[in-house]
Amino acid sequence: METKCPVDAKCAAEISAMLTPPSPLQLQEYFEEIISERKCHGIEVKQDGNLSKGVYATMELKEGELILKDKILVGLQHVPNKLDCLVCGYCFQFIESVEYQIGRKLYLQSLGVPSCNGCDEGECSSSSSYNKACLPEGVIEALMNGELVLPYSDKFPLPSTVPCPGGCQEAYYCSKSCAQTDWESSHSLLCTGERSESLSIEALSKFIQHATETNDIFLLAAKTISFTILRYRKLKAANADRSELSLLLEAWKPISMGYKRRWWECISFPDDVDRSDDTAFRMQIQQLAFKSLQLLKAAIFDEECEPLFSLEIYGNIIGMFELNNLDLVVASPVEDYFLYIDDLPDPEKEKAEKIARQLLDALGDDYSICCQGTAFYPLQSCMNHSCCPNAHAFKRDEDRDGQAAIITLKPIRKGEEVTVSYIDEDLPFEDRQALLADYGFKCRCNACLEQDPNKK
Ligand SMILES: [Zn+2]
Ligand SMILES: [Zn+2]
Ligand SMILES: [Zn+2]
Repeated sequence: METKCPVDAKCAAEISAMLTPPSPLQLQEYFEEIISERKCHGIEVKQDGNLSKGVYATMELKEGELILKDKILVGLQHVPNKLDCLVCGYCFQFIESVEYQIGRKLYLQSLGVPSCNGCDEGECSSSSSYNKACLPEGVIEALMNGELVLPYSDKFPLPSTVPCPGGCQEAYYCSKSCAQTDWESSHSLLCTGERSESLSIEALSKFIQHATETNDIFLLAAKTISFTILRYRKLKAANADRSELSLLLEAWKPISMGYKRRWWECISFPDDVDRSDDTAFRMQIQQLAFKSLQLLKAAIFDEECEPLFSLEIYGNIIGMFELNNLDLVVASPVEDYFLYIDDLPDPEKEKAEKIARQLLDALGDDYSICCQGTAFYPLQSCMNHSCCPNAHAFKRDEDRDGQAAIITLKPIRKGEEVTVSYIDEDLPFEDRQALLADYGFKCRCNACLEQDPNKK
């Protein structure tokens, strides 16, 4: 049976206002502001005739130019990846030290915590490769407490760790400013520490546990709701005379710009489920979302923001992440460190490898795992797909945090659309179309028009 959420009916008018796509003027104003805040170069966001957004060049662009560094609106490090990488909870750069990153990972491995390659398909491999016996006594402790300094690790300095101001010992930051910004933008409501501003830490812990066991996309949805509530409260404090709905719509504005549909309607159908079970599968997903929402409601409900706790809005927020599917990736300084050692000339290499080789063996194949998560990037999400793209998301050596960097792949003319590929564009036509169907469209790029076997 279809899940009915009472808030959907009670707040129907507010929900419909929140889900009405922004007008071309609102859209233009919003993105002009975003572009002026970010490091952007020669691009603008425009709507085409079908009201779908696209990014266009406002000047001639050369090949290899950085055209955009896009900040994360809301982002999340995947739960299993937290065991492999310690990163700032706000900007996602690696923190503390190369030694600490290695020591922490070996320590968690020695406890038998399985490591995860972070692959989308969930092919998690337990670290059977770990062999504690190959490391001298006390090395892990010395790496973690700073007594053991690895040769050449000063070439890979990392910012020291700042703990969460709420005292949860779960979120860590690269700086006081990241800690404060995260606290004010979403974490204060989602912190399980003693200074948490949630209604109940116990209820919040239940929500987090459910999300961790089922789908960590719920944690990202909770961040989005918390972000909107906190924006609402700030706006209300400054504009006491405005109506609740107009303040809520203003608080919701950044999220309103993203293309969205209900999660259970747009989720890609898993390969291992019989196609004839489509309806049952989608209802199960809807039920799962409802269960998660009720747990979240018990933890952070705010009556003035009630529409945010409707299944309709919750489903659309998660659907927005599903459809925009933007990966958050930050390269690991641990990988860079070992590559550096490997590239050293002898006799420096031989000397450095005495300890490095043992650590590398103990870490096994997982030594190079990067930080992986999901994030919503407001501008990158406006970029349309092409199987022959003229730009791509590419992290240069200096891009060490969660921001997305977009670089041109070929010269782009003024007025031309800037496109990226959502998939591996080297796949055959049929495979590409199948993958793109998950994004809800049929590609009509030049490559597809040419390769379509049904073309007239
Ligand atoms: Zn940071
Ligand atoms: Zn906290
Ligand atoms: Zn195509």
